[in-house]
Amino acid sequence: MAEDDVTIIGGGIVGLATAHALLRADPGKRITVLEKESAVGSHQTGRNSGVLHSGLYYPPGSAKARFARAGAEEMYRFCAEHGVPVRRLGKLVVATRAEQLPRLAELARRGAANGVRLSELDGSGIAEREPRVRGLRALLVPDAGITDFGAVSRVLADLLAERGVAVRRGTELVAARRDGDGLVLTTTTGEVRTRLAVNCAGLHSDTVAELAGTRPAARILPFRGEYYETTAAAHELVRALVYPVPDPAFPFLGVHFTRMIDGGLHVGPNAVPALAREGYDWRTWSGPHLRRLLGDPGLRSLAKRYWRTGAAEIARSAAKPLFVRAARELLPALRGADLVPAAAGVRAQAVRPDGTLVDDFLVHEDERWIHVLNAPSPAATASLRIGADIAERVTAHLG
Ligand SMILES: Cc1cc2nc3c(=O)[nH]c(=O)nc-3n(C[C@H](O)[C@H](O)[C@H](O)COP(=O)(O)OP(=O)(O)OC[C@H]3O[C@@H](n4cnc5c(N)ncnc54)[C@H](O)[C@@H]3O)c2cc1C
Repeated sequence: MAEDDVTIIGGGIVGLATAHALLRADPGKRITVLEKESAVGSHQTGRNSGVLHSGLYYPPGSAKARFARAGAEEMYRFCAEHGVPVRRLGKLVVATRAEQLPRLAELARRGAANGVRLSELDGSGIAEREPRVRGLRALLVPDAGITDFGAVSRVLADLLAERGVAVRRGTELVAARRDGDGLVLTTTTGEVRTRLAVNCAGLHSDTVAELAGTRPAARILPFRGEYYETTAAAHELVRALVYPVPDPAFPFLGVHFTRMIDGGLHVGPNAVPALAREGYDWRTWSGPHLRRLLGDPGLRSLAKRYWRTGAAEIARSAAKPLFVRAARELLPALRGADLVPAAAGVRAQAVRPDGTLVDDFLVHEDERWIHVLNAPSPAATASLRIGADIAERVTAHLG
């Protein structure tokens, strides 16, 4: 059996960007990517808002803050170079009520500390950029933009294949064992021998860590994000990207308006617990997943802390008029008839045993494995930077 230097589990944007960075550092490296689906980017990477975030929200000094800003610029360059559609549209974060103004000011301070270009707008400034949006004050972030991260992942996979990397689709990792100074990985299409493995399995990253013999510091709690899209007649209600002021107690960004790269306008996502790791609707559930959720004390404490926000999100998921009412806070002209359901995504959010959500990206290393245990938004924006960071860790391991 031939031996790889590095085998990457997961053909999402993080796994593919890691392979890309490894190859740039050393074109001679033998690399394989294992992807269980028949296409790359089938889960989080292909089911998101497509926004290039600019580093506004994240605590200064965090990996999210550092990687989002640099990663977004690298992603703009990558898309331009490889013909992936991308637009630097700019976004508004809009306060609609006086009590949100201190939080907006705090966001402005954070953004400035993170080196994000931004300016403040009053009501008439908002009306100039987004005539239908209602707000008291807003932050304008000109460097936020949009792309199609699924398309980026397909380009990455093609570049890898051209340079001799095997991207093995339809190949799921099911077991792993140490063998001498390397690993033997058992997959649904045969065994792979490798010196080092990198776990970029997204929604399954904790179970892959377990399968590798590591007790992960955090478990994945899948949160579904549901979207509506506007009918063609309502596409122009919003010109670019419009966000509410986020709730600091909740890591997701609130229902926002996103101009998509194909010209459509998406409203959402919300954040409701998914009943399976790949539970893209309420009908998809998994017994083992639900038993784990109910039996896990950390997850119970999380539910206790967030039950009010969670109940409101579930109500908005079940009743469209409630969702429309929330969206009308920013866009009073929006009507229920303007919205039709669109495909949902599921976020892989890591939760610690004490029930706190892991805020930053989280990577765990041991002798033969590097595990990416938390790579939620803005990991698609930051993927090329995250890939470069993991490639440096691989080099430190392999010498
Ligand atoms: C609703 C939603 C909106 C978002 N909006 C944005 C946004 O606007 N901007 C942004 O930057 N980020 C956004 N994100 C986050 C972003 O999509 C993710 O951070 C990013 O896609 C993570 O990529 P990944 O490669 O880690 O995971 P994934 O794309 O989920 O890839 C993991 C891959 O591993 C494979 N896999 C799992 N287990 C195995 C196994 N045992 N063997 C082989 N393969 C396996 C899976 O099939 C999958 O393809 C959003 C996410 C969601 C869900």
